[in-house]
Amino acid sequence: MRDLLDGITAVLCKECKASCCSCMPVEGWFTESDYFIYRMFYDPPFELRVQHDNETSCAFLCARGCSLPADMRPFPCVKVNCKFVNQRLVADGGMKEFDNLKHEMIGLQKQIWEIISNKD
Ligand code: SF4
Ligand code: SF4
Repeated sequence: MRDLLDGITAVLCKECKASCCSCMPVEGWFTESDYFIYRMFYDPPFELRVQHDNETSCAFLCARGCSLPADMRPFPCVKVNCKFVNQRLVADGGMKEFDNLKHEMIGLQKQIWEIISNKD
């Protein structure tokens, strides 16, 4: 999914007047399952957090973009696209592949939730 989006967001998001990463704090998006998976591979991401004057900017938005490793971004950051990204995915012929990968990811997320919620 990252590969599919990299070719689009690198250009499109630079021009965006309402960049999603600076318009909504990510704390509500970084769910328990995101965090558990993250911690399987990495130390706590405290040092990756950035102090912003703007209260709506994501804590992980740094000068070069997202400070989280590309394969460890919260599920919503990867699977929810704005209409501009979706339009480009359609125009580039990547929407079907993106949707298939998104459904695979939703299935994995459900499995993770089941594991987490069944733990005593
Ligand atoms: S994903 Fe869409 S809303 Fe977010 S910065 Fe890029 S163009 Fe803007
Ligand atoms: S975690 Fe990264 S991709 Fe997601 S909103 Fe924050 S800066 Fe953007």
